[in-house]
Amino acid sequence: MPAEPTAPPFQHDHVLDACFLGPYGENDALLERILVEFLRDHVYWRRNFHPEDPPAIGTAASLHPDYQAFEARMRRELHQLSAALKRSMPFHSPRYIGHMASDLLLPGLAAQMLALPYNPNNVTDEAAPVTVDLEVKVGLQLARMLGYPSDPARVDCAFGHLTSGGTLANYQALRLALALKAFPLALRTAGAPGLDLPDDDWAAFNLGNAATIDLLGRWQAWLAAQPPRERAQWHARVEAQRIEQLGIAGFFAAHPQLRLPRVLAPITAHYSWSKGVKMLGLGRAQLDLLPTHGMRLDADALAEHVQRCARERIPVLLAVAVLGSTEYGTIDPVDGVLAAREATRAQGLDFAVHVDAAWGGYLATIFRHEDGSLREREAIAAEFKYFPSPPLYRAFAALADTDSVTVDPHKLGYLPFGSGAFVCRDHRAMDLLAERADYIFHGEAPRDYLQRFRSLGQFIPEGSKSGAAAAGVYVAHQVLPLDHRNFGRMPRSTVRCTELFYERAQRFAAQVAGYLHARVPFEPDSNLVCLAFNPRGNRSLAQANAFLWRLYERLRPDVHQPLQVKEFFGSVTTLRPELVGAGPAHEILTSLGIDADADADSDGGALVVLRHTLMNPWLIDRENGISYIDRYFDFLMRCTAALLDRNPPA
Ligand SMILES: *Cc1c(COP(=O)(O)O)cnc(C)c1O
Repeated sequence: MPAEPTAPPFQHDHVLDACFLGPYGENDALLERILVEFLRDHVYWRRNFHPEDPPAIGTAASLHPDYQAFEARMRRELHQLSAALKRSMPFHSPRYIGHMASDLLLPGLAAQMLALPYNPNNVTDEAAPVTVDLEVKVGLQLARMLGYPSDPARVDCAFGHLTSGGTLANYQALRLALALKAFPLALRTAGAPGLDLPDDDWAAFNLGNAATIDLLGRWQAWLAAQPPRERAQWHARVEAQRIEQLGIAGFFAAHPQLRLPRVLAPITAHYSWSKGVKMLGLGRAQLDLLPTHGMRLDADALAEHVQRCARERIPVLLAVAVLGSTEYGTIDPVDGVLAAREATRAQGLDFAVHVDAAWGGYLATIFRHEDGSLREREAIAAEFKYFPSPPLYRAFAALADTDSVTVDPHKLGYLPFGSGAFVCRDHRAMDLLAERADYIFHGEAPRDYLQRFRSLGQFIPEGSKSGAAAAGVYVAHQVLPLDHRNFGRMPRSTVRCTELFYERAQRFAAQVAGYLHARVPFEPDSNLVCLAFNPRGNRSLAQANAFLWRLYERLRPDVHQPLQVKEFFGSVTTLRPELVGAGPAHEILTSLGIDADADADSDGGALVVLRHTLMNPWLIDRENGISYIDRYFDFLMRCTAALLDRNPPA
């Protein structure tokens, strides 16, 4: 029997005390001082622009009745807004364990508030001379966290930018993969000289990212060496054959022997992938959702699927591994996806590998040394009881070999909403997304890495966008660099809390065993844990779900009740047999005493479970000796007993 793993004692990390406004607003004076200081600083900046210009708003302006009426109206509306916002979700509180939100990092919040009145627009450096560079640097900070090349002096340095969220970052991954896949074919069709191109459309469409980036570089160098007229002509000829010019319909009509490419993702993937394929001009029929094993992408099923694609000559655009699924927090075998690609390359099928780490991306900080290198698994494991299992470690170690990654600073980055991020491993690929090929007009591509991306709007799905948000992310990452000694403190603390939650759940199950089946349906990979229940004696799935919905009444947001009525906020999700796998789904139901075959038709065999996102830094409050995890399970004990007309067990 393997020895019971041991865990280091839970210790409060005092650096965290300065990181947030705090559940009680403990750091109010700190935030207020910063805000007042930098608001004044902004005002002086205005005055010092041309101090000789006198104030345009007269010193007596505020005495005018129109001014006063306006101010009164503004105040009335602000009071109403402020009052209404009191019904907001209390993300700051350790009693909030529902969706993927928590308190905000002070450096990020303060930097964003400080930058707001300057109103930089990161569409271009002309509207954001400072914050565009900060955004590109955020891309480098994230690249380093993922193990991508992050030294801008390297020709193959990574590139990343912010998006409104993970949804658009995922879409950017699709756009870039398609651009890379289709480009060699455009060169071939245009008859671009001197490039040694693949001899058929299938081979050109399966050239692979690295070879395509190399090809793009050789093509740009060839163009740059031509006299301006030839250069423009050749450029136009190739452009005319690109998928970005012809559209998907026109491009595939021009290459009738090629079938539409597929996007592969686990069935647990976020619905942004469905949105993404549609935005790209593909349809859901091109999105192949693959089975999971223990809620993690089944790498063998993926390997078989791509082998079949290779045999049947169905192109694959992109395979997605999810690093922290939105509903379950499970982590796909990124290494297995890379291995499946390696195996089909020999059969002539190549595709991009993207990691949707919108949720789990920042967990990578636990795995990084300050110098950016990967930590040993044993050193990490010494800080936890179960984390990270060898497959989990391999998934994080493999990030460096993928093509692109989505990370959401507004999730485990503890930053305000409105910031997702897309990072690709080799910045040179981005030229294919540019709306305008600058090297054509300037003769050669800009050599300086930062300068290259200053017209950010050329490359991103959005146009105008918040430079203040970029400043917030940048400053947060500067104050807490993305390695285990700095930023890693936060995921370390919350993953430890998840381990404690997991063990407490087992004690809870024993405590309530007299009247309730309770279990964690599958082991948590990150800081998301689910709980499944069934009243003892009940065999019906529909009844078990009805019980859970009644329990959830006590945990769900309700606009008709004051917030304080709720002791805790949670969320729910469903375990569908097609997600969990038929065998494991059966096992989960049976262990809960539910007759899996009796009413499998009801709810499609889906079990409703509680879902908990554990990311609040004060789930274990050492200052006051309070464990909100214990309190939560006490609360569950009271609720479940009351729902079943029982006295809670002593
Ligand atoms: C949250 C999430 C997304 C979508 O991100 P938004 O920021 O909500 O647009 C995509 N994928 C995963 C895995 C997520 O958790």
